[in-house]
Amino acid sequence: MQPTYCEFNFCPYCGAKLEITLIDNKPRKTCPACPFIHWGEYSLGVGGVLLQGERGLLVQRAHNPGKGRWTIPGGYVDQNEKMEKAVVREVLEETGLITEPVSVLAVRDRPEDVPGMKHDIYIVFLLRLLGGELKFDPGEVMQAGFYSLEDCQKLENIAPLSLEMISKALQYTREGNLAPGFIRREGIKVVGALSELYTLP
Ligand SMILES: [Zn+2]
Repeated sequence: MQPTYCEFNFCPYCGAKLEITLIDNKPRKTCPACPFIHWGEYSLGVGGVLLQGERGLLVQRAHNPGKGRWTIPGGYVDQNEKMEKAVVREVLEETGLITEPVSVLAVRDRPEDVPGMKHDIYIVFLLRLLGGELKFDPGEVMQAGFYSLEDCQKLENIAPLSLEMISKALQYTREGNLAPGFIRREGIKVVGALSELYTLP
């Protein structure tokens, strides 16, 4: 489902009619009856790059948004889900392949510049294959497979970001950089049991 930006008129906590208040010189919708302030609406997506030799995994989307479009597998992160759990889950759902994250390759920031869409942040992971068998769910994807960079470039309807990510991942691998980008750090204290920290190695 396409994430649509919705204007709140009533407080989602207590139901009171929201008022406009200037906060830091910006008009914000605030609740007169409880502390709710509507700061904005955001969505968080993840995508996974999985290489098999000189080929990268792509899926062709069966539904809108982007029906027919070739992309790396991925989807939206649930409210209290770790983003790397989300990417592993989405890849499994869409392709039947069991993977684990290696590193964070890229972050795309897309503020609300597409009409009707929320401010969307998309994080791309490099993945490693653990097991499973390539079998896609026809309800979610029309086709899935590993494609060489040359074949990817020939696909008419490939997402430019997916093409770029596969290209970069192949380049890093050739250069012997097997965990490019940010990696998840163990043993560094961050607040909250689900919280994790990613840094350069
Ligand atoms: Zn309220």
